[in-house]
Amino acid sequence: MIRAGIGYDSHRLVVGRPLILGGQRIPHDRGLEGHSDADAIAHALTDAILGAAAMGDIGRLFPDSEPKWKGADSMVLLRLACEQVAGGGFTPRQADITVILEGPRLARFIPAMIEGLSRATGIAADALSIKAKTNEGMGFIGRGEGVAVMAVATVEST
Ligand code: MG
Repeated sequence: MIRAGIGYDSHRLVVGRPLILGGQRIPHDRGLEGHSDADAIAHALTDAILGAAAMGDIGRLFPDSEPKWKGADSMVLLRLACEQVAGGGFTPRQADITVILEGPRLARFIPAMIEGLSRATGIAADALSIKAKTNEGMGFIGRGEGVAVMAVATVEST
């Protein structure tokens, strides 16, 4: 049986932090603020996969009250979440991700993101999609104050 899950994440863009999205460090004058590395792509995908398996969410698995996860590599958290999901009898099969940010342009980083996310989740690279778009200057994203990510993932019960 195939099950679908949805994930959403947003983080504030601040000076003095690296910008890490989909496991890639993107050259930019600001980065995402958060307890972990604030990789909103990894977080949204983690929630989509956990949601598909009905196994909670990233905040329940890796609470930000836990010093252990401070500065955590979110690709590692994604991998750990997939191990949990596998333990529950589910295999991640496919994901589609939309990143909404006013800049910088992500296109040239997307192939490497897909490769890394494929390694972390076990999802075939040709079943992983990442799309980036701007918010046409509107709202907090349009003002460059933050980034939002939506993800859908499917898992197969094994
Ligand atoms: Mg997050």
